[in-house]
Amino acid sequence: MTQQNDCILMLNHLAQEKKKKGEKVTNGTIGMMYLDDGSLPIYPSIRSTLAKHVQDEDLIYSSVAGEEDYRHLLINWFWGDHFEEALTTKNMKVISTLGGTGAVSIAIRESTLKNGLLLLPSLAWPNYQTMANCNKAPFVFYDNFNEKNEFNIEGIKELIEKAIGKYTCVSLIINDPCQNPTGFCMSKKEWSDLVELLNEYTKKISISLIFDVAYIDFADDISRKYIADSVKTLDKSITSYICMSFSKTFSFYGLRIGALAIYSKDKKAVEEEDLDCRMLARSYWSTPNHMAMNSVSDLLHDEASVKILRDDIRKNKELVLKRSKIFLKEAKENGLSWYPYGAGFFVSVKVKYANKVADNLAKKNVFIAPIRDDVLRVAICCMPTDQVYGVAKLIKDAQ
Ligand code: PLP
Repeated sequence: MTQQNDCILMLNHLAQEKKKKGEKVTNGTIGMMYLDDGSLPIYPSIRSTLAKHVQDEDLIYSSVAGEEDYRHLLINWFWGDHFEEALTTKNMKVISTLGGTGAVSIAIRESTLKNGLLLLPSLAWPNYQTMANCNKAPFVFYDNFNEKNEFNIEGIKELIEKAIGKYTCVSLIINDPCQNPTGFCMSKKEWSDLVELLNEYTKKISISLIFDVAYIDFADDISRKYIADSVKTLDKSITSYICMSFSKTFSFYGLRIGALAIYSKDKKAVEEEDLDCRMLARSYWSTPNHMAMNSVSDLLHDEASVKILRDDIRKNKELVLKRSKIFLKEAKENGLSWYPYGAGFFVSVKVKYANKVADNLAKKNVFIAPIRDDVLRVAICCMPTDQVYGVAKLIKDAQ
């Protein structure tokens, strides 16, 4: 049966409708970042660049993989020179996609097609499950954290053990840094332990790793290195699918532009996966959004423009971190407990009956999404800073 996962979007819509009617609303539902004045952080250079891209070359079809320029500039934006060599040697290939969603969906489909089992975090962006269902990919959940609130490598190990003999391969999704919905960011050691574990198990089963880095520009820069080093240290038999998005980075949510990078030490595997994924893209949406792609290339094409953008993005990151500090301080004062937060758009608060708490909060025009029966996801990204004050107490009182 099709699982419905649009609760967050529905709650956001409800909050927006009330706001339009002039009611005072606190909207902590949606994964979109707003500035304190309620506008999107679209800086003048971004808006003027977008406005320019209405020419014929923005409206015609591109190739299925998208403009070469865009793909190179995008890798440089997200990864600096970490993958420069891999692009030259063709150990990495990149396909433009419809947002990060397009990238993850194709990666799930491709990596599980041949009797594969998908390993999903139990606390996760709900769309993974929808993608798995729609792509007919069998899946199981690993708990995100062990009892010490560390990344749960043991849980992943157990699931791989169980898959051996039943499935030809396992495909693991890791959403890091700024995991949705917890804000967790993996440490260097957690990454290296994971790589070691996966490399070890390649002797017994095929493995693919899907990196969902949709929120990477809101994390500490060191996460880029942890991930790039991990990708490059994986065994030759492992294919990495790196799913990137400009939705959160440039607030291009509705423009639907991202990319999928496929990496392996085995060039032939990269070539095959690249062809398969391009054909999946061709069948799902045909060609990417040319206007958005050209706008991104324009923004990223010279160093001065990149520097301005990096400064702007850093300010966004700092604003979200400031809100998180306010919320977590008050959460502590009010005796709430939450999953380990490092950075990013969301904090996940543990409650007994999340739906009931969300209903009670909604009666006070405070909208927070119940992401699981026992978890409320507080989207600090979309709450103006002055509205963050007091929300922790309201959550406590609504239980
Ligand atoms: N991955 C995660 C964890 C997300 O939360 C989202 C969006 O909310 C995405 C990927 C994809 O976003 P988009 O398709 O807009 O790039």
